[in-house]
Amino acid sequence: AQQEARATAHQPAITRDGRQVSIFANIGSIADVQVAVANGAEGVGLLRTEFLYFERATAPTEEEQFTVYQAIAQVLARRPLIIRTLDIGGDKPLPYLKLGIPEANPFLGWRGIRLCLDRPELFKTQLRAILRASAGHNIKVMLPMIATVAEVRAAKEILSEVKAELRQAAIPFDRAIAVGIMIEVPSAVAIADRLAAEVDFFSIGTNDLSQYVMAGDRTNPRVATLVDALHPAVLRMVQQTVQAARTAGIWVGLCGELAADPLATPILVGLGLNELSVNPQAIPLLKQAIAQLSLAEAEAIAASVLQQDSATDVRALVQNLISS
Ligand code: PEP
Ligand code: MG
Repeated sequence: AQQEARATAHQPAITRDGRQVSIFANIGSIADVQVAVANGAEGVGLLRTEFLYFERATAPTEEEQFTVYQAIAQVLARRPLIIRTLDIGGDKPLPYLKLGIPEANPFLGWRGIRLCLDRPELFKTQLRAILRASAGHNIKVMLPMIATVAEVRAAKEILSEVKAELRQAAIPFDRAIAVGIMIEVPSAVAIADRLAAEVDFFSIGTNDLSQYVMAGDRTNPRVATLVDALHPAVLRMVQQTVQAARTAGIWVGLCGELAADPLATPILVGLGLNELSVNPQAIPLLKQAIAQLSLAEAEAIAASVLQQDSATDVRALVQNLISS
């Protein structure tokens, strides 16, 4: 099966009845992007930029970041590269950021977009680097940990300022650069219709969404079985998000680990995700699995899992349906 999957890895993922799902890669380094392309990635759905900021005494400069983003975009040629802005803080502190007060609940604390909006210089440096790399490349910006409309507006405002500065300095960038957000906080699901009016795309982060929906720390093994992205509570949130995106006419992807779980494939295709972003190794088998599905059967599977009472029931149901 592995060998067969490798043979079709460079074809698009299309169901038997013609629904195409874009298959992108999650990456966190320059080395990863080579592997992603070799495995058939049609783009990068999540570039985790944190790696640029770890294990150093000061934040990376605009030039350093620009060089890395440009190098990754070059490997991708015209394939899309979705760069997620810094998602640091909480359990991933950086000494040079001087977070100050220790937090009792780091996952509920000062992380991601919250920190970036409070440290506009740090945020602007990254946005300048991303915008400069966007000249001649297919780059999109993605904001993590969005919980409110105000955060999106504030981030877009800062992006506009940076664009104006670049224009004034006659530095080229993609003036039509798309801006999207991660949907990984339950409030964002609840107001997905309002958020959709502000952005070009959504990408659902089920790793964090599961921990916040189930109220269980994603790093705590004691609650690991509770924090399960296949729980119907989480899957219903995915469904709500997809519907809001559809109504608004924007595309919606999913970049949590769930997308690489073979049992999730029919569910996610059936719920109507336009894009799935997974670790590069998972791409060939994911594409092959989609090619074997029909959208009609995937939709039926999705509808029935939403009516289950537990992740265990969801797994059993999908297992039965795909082996029958
Ligand atoms: C997520 O939360 O699902 C996600 C993709 O982001 P990260 O795992 O980097 O928090
Ligand atoms: Mg996340």
